[in-house]
Amino acid sequence: MSSIPSLESLHAIGAAQQPRYPDRARLDAAVARLRGAPPLVFAGECDDLTEKLAAVSRGEAFLLQGGDCAETFDGVTADNVRNKLRVLLQMAVILTYAGSVPVVKVGRLAGQYAKPRSSDDETRVVDGESVTLPAYRGDAVNGFDFTPESRIPDPQRLVEVYHASAATLNLVRAFVTGGYADLRQVHTWNTDFVKESPVGQRYEVMASEIDRALSFMSAIGADPEELRRVDFHSSHEALLMEYEHAMTRIDSRTQQPYNVSGHFVWIGERTRQLDGAHVEYFRHLRNPIGVKLGPTATADDALALAAKLNPENTPGRLTFITRFGAEKIRDGLPRLVEKVTAEGVQVAWVCDPMHGNTFTSSTGYKTRRFDDVVGEVQGFFDVHRALGTWPGGILVEMTGDDVTECIGGGEELDEHGLAHRYESVVDPRLNRVQSLELAFLVAEMLRA
Ligand code: PEP
Ligand code: MN
Repeated sequence: MSSIPSLESLHAIGAAQQPRYPDRARLDAAVARLRGAPPLVFAGECDDLTEKLAAVSRGEAFLLQGGDCAETFDGVTADNVRNKLRVLLQMAVILTYAGSVPVVKVGRLAGQYAKPRSSDDETRVVDGESVTLPAYRGDAVNGFDFTPESRIPDPQRLVEVYHASAATLNLVRAFVTGGYADLRQVHTWNTDFVKESPVGQRYEVMASEIDRALSFMSAIGADPEELRRVDFHSSHEALLMEYEHAMTRIDSRTQQPYNVSGHFVWIGERTRQLDGAHVEYFRHLRNPIGVKLGPTATADDALALAAKLNPENTPGRLTFITRFGAEKIRDGLPRLVEKVTAEGVQVAWVCDPMHGNTFTSSTGYKTRRFDDVVGEVQGFFDVHRALGTWPGGILVEMTGDDVTECIGGGEELDEHGLAHRYESVVDPRLNRVQSLELAFLVAEMLRA
């Protein structure tokens, strides 16, 4: 399949979760700008990631995918990107050591600017009066400020997404190849965490094992290039038809269509309808792709999606990202995995322990319990282990900063502590310490 359906035909199918732009001419102008913009990623890099994800589907590698629920334009700063990257690299070292398999590192960044919403509107009480405005759909669409002007979808924001993504990816590429990602450096950050944080002290044994492994390598004079640099890929939910379609190009080498705005793109839980526009668009792409599967997904849904999205059953091409919730995963996941496996469908299984575990705190914040996050990952491991399949990885919403958005973890953040530093514009993220703690806990699951 070497062509892409037209934007008009995708809209004719009735794409879900799209903004209603008031000014068609400005939208067309933004799309034209994007169509002429250089690619952010290369087709060959996407193929490399497909190969790595094929290893995940064979049980020979583990995926670590993480970043904000929604990036913001204001968040494109050196500090923010660096802190996030640092924690991801720290998590990856812990998981690599414990799993004794390569960890495929994918940032949920450089493009994660559009959000599906469960309601088109948002109502708040302003000066004692109830006010209803269009919902915030991510910086790609409208502004977070609760004013009528800010909530109008502005197509110029799509062009801004491109530039913000380019700046982020440029920084990430520089960091991961320019010495910042050196394994010894990353391990030093982990030992600092273990030494300085009361939470970290619980993981002293594993940190000192890694220490000894590194000392051994240094003693024998091993200094491979692999210690100094890492492969890192970008990903986002490809939600907005205008943006994703404009960033889809026919690769000159293979004559195949690639979305060149990110290496890995996924279909969200709200847009995975088999006959929907997103599935129709995605099935033409050659990038590695993911589909979220929530508790309402049946095994037949999963099989039908696989047949449509990966008809050649290419390993690494398709990742199923399950997000059942800690309560439901042990009951819901086995029937999916069993049937998909029995049919010989090649897929990488990844756990999103975030989106099935969201609730509103008594203090009014959208939050998650750290224990539920850990509980869902544990359920995911247990189910796969029982079935003899490979728990291929995790997708987490996290940040490198010390925010207070999720409850619990070793620092025992409670509902009242959320107000202290709640910065997310959409879903709550694990903070730095919670992310590292999760990595150590998942490391123990990998080793068990
Ligand atoms: C998300 O990943 O932020 C998201 C909206 O997830 P889901 O599609 O699984 O609800
Ligand atoms: Mn989210």
